[in-house]
Order: sequence, then C-alpha cells, then structure tokens
Amino acid sequence: MLTDMADKKVDFRSDTVTRPTPKMRRAMYETEVGDDVYGEDPAVNKLEEKAADLLGKEAGLFVTSGTQGNLISVLTHTLPGQEVILESESHIFYYEAAGAALIGGVQMRTIPGKRGAMNPSKVEAAIRSDDIHFPSTGLIALENTHNRAGGAVIPLSNMAALATIARKHAIPIHLDGARIFNAAVASGTTAKEIASYADSISFCLSKGLCAPVGSVIVGRKEWIDKARKWRKRLGGGMRQAGILAAAGIVALEQMIRRLPEDHALAQYLAEGLAELPEVDVVLPETNIVLMNVEKSGLTAKQLLQRLEDEDILATDFGPFTVRLVTHKDVDRTGADRLLDAVKNIFKGEAR
Ligand SMILES: *Cc1c(COP(=O)(O)O)cnc(C)c1O
Repeated sequence: MLTDMADKKVDFRSDTVTRPTPKMRRAMYETEVGDDVYGEDPAVNKLEEKAADLLGKEAGLFVTSGTQGNLISVLTHTLPGQEVILESESHIFYYEAAGAALIGGVQMRTIPGKRGAMNPSKVEAAIRSDDIHFPSTGLIALENTHNRAGGAVIPLSNMAALATIARKHAIPIHLDGARIFNAAVASGTTAKEIASYADSISFCLSKGLCAPVGSVIVGRKEWIDKARKWRKRLGGGMRQAGILAAAGIVALEQMIRRLPEDHALAQYLAEGLAELPEVDVVLPETNIVLMNVEKSGLTAKQLLQRLEDEDILATDFGPFTVRLVTHKDVDRTGADRLLDAVKNIFKGEAR
C-alpha cells in the first residue's frame, strides 16, 4: 500500500498537488516504452495523438510542464524583437520568470482584462502598425481558465472576437489552456470548441487531471515540428517518457469527467466563506476560490500561518487575498475543516 506523508494535511494550495491514481500507477508500470527523441515511444505517441484529437488540432507534443509548453509556444510563434499581447495578470507574464523575454527576446505588451478577458478593441488598438519605431506584433496569448482571475472562464464570444481580429492582422493566437478542461465542463462546451479560436494550445496533465508530470501543446503539424526542435534545444527531449505519458493517457481518458466534483466543492467552500462577515468572496466558476480577508484585520500571510498550524494549506494571492484550489485529493470533510478553522481564527481575532 502506498502512503504519502502529506495525507493528514488538507492541501488547497493548488491542483498540482494531486497524486496519481492507482490506475495511473498501474499504467505507468505496465506501459511499453521506447526512445521518444527518436519518435519511438508508443505511449508518448498515443498521448500526443489523443491530445490533438481532443482539441481538434493536427498534432501534439508532450512537454515537461505548463511553463515549458508556453515558452516553447511563444518561441515557435515569434521572432526576437517582436511583441506579444497578453493579459496583465496572465500566467505567462506573471509566473514564468520572464522566460519568453529572456530566451525568446520578445517584449510583453500587457492589457488589463475583466475577469481575465481582454477587451477586443483594446487588443486591436495594441496591434502595431508598420512603423520604423515599433516592434511588430508576433502573437496574442490568451488564458482560459484564467488563474489569477480566480479560475474565470473566458467567454467563447470574447475568444471569437479576438480570433477574428487576429486573423484580420495575420497574427497567431496561443491559448494557455492549463485548465482548458475546467473551462469546458464549466461552460457546457467542449475543449475542442474553445481550442478552435486558437492556433496553439498548451494544457496541463498534472493539475486537476492528476497526472504526476507533464503538459501537452497542440497545433498544426508543421508548427509542432518546429516546436519539437525548440523542446530539444531547451533540454526537454525525454527518452523513455512513456512512463509519464501512460499516466497522461489515463488523465485524458478518465479524469476529465470528474472535474465537476472539484467545481462543486469550490462552490461549497465559497458559499460557506460568504457567510462570514470578515470575508469577501466571488462565487467561483471552476475550481479556484479567491477570498479577500482585509475586513478580518489579518493579512493573507497571517491567516495562512494560522491555518497551517491546523494542517490546512492555501496560497496568498495578494496582501489580503487567499487562493483555495479544489481537486481530487480534498473533499467535503477537508472543506468543513477549513471553514471551521477560518471561523475560529476570526473569532479569536475579535476577542
Ligand atoms: C499552472 C499553470 C501553468 C503552468 O504551470 P507548470 O507548473 O509550469 O506546469 C501555466 N498557465 C496557467 C494558467 C497555470 O495555471
């Protein structure tokens, strides 16, 4: 029996903390493998085909992480000296250690969005004209669901409007779809429909889908061929990677359908938190709850410290904002523990 040290903790920090399921571990053990740099790993090939099919694109590429998937995508779409238009709080801009600027030599042009969605006319106005002073616009990058906007789903109408503008100006669109399947189940559409508004998509196997490692990027065949070379340059050419891809296949076949449970638990948490006068919380669309605790007199870090004393983990997302993410390895009991702990901490504070 496999046990994990973290078992007694309730961990709302991220859906990345999910551990692989028994089916994944079995698939990893049993899978056939080959050398993927030679294109000979059957599980990697199957995962890449499956991912491409699911998102309606020609080809896929298994990459080490979401960050690597986004970096490879930006590098494959752009040339040094170009500009990328993206939302001010997007993961690529906020959390990827300026990799695209450093390695790709591209400049980031940020547009503040509403719940992660950029206004199409603002995006169009930011596209550079042909002027000796200007960098040229090489890419528009979107994010759905939007992490820092609290797992917000970008409306399809917004994506469609941006796609029309991008096409008019012959600029590609990359979608950071780390949680694209959360977006799809929350909005009652398919990931394929969402993906249809982008030229390339990166999504994570290792978040709500519970695989231990990895992301996949998808796009046109020639584009993926170029991306594969970038992956090699960045040191992401893995050999018997089928060990990891086998878990990714289980993730795609079995774990998408359970995402509504995560969304229901986030809803339950948010409703419980909304009853507390010290908390401002936006009702979540997917599996991320953002709560503002400024009225409690505690900072986010202070609250997190006290929760940690109770073996409950979450992340701060600003001086007074705490992020809670639901996933397979937390349940109603854990949610109740969090709600009780927060209530007791605030009660102690008021005394
Ligand atoms: C998690 C995440 C990523 C990539 O994360 P890795 O930890 O590098 O796999 C990219 N974009 C968004 C929106 C994310 O939430």
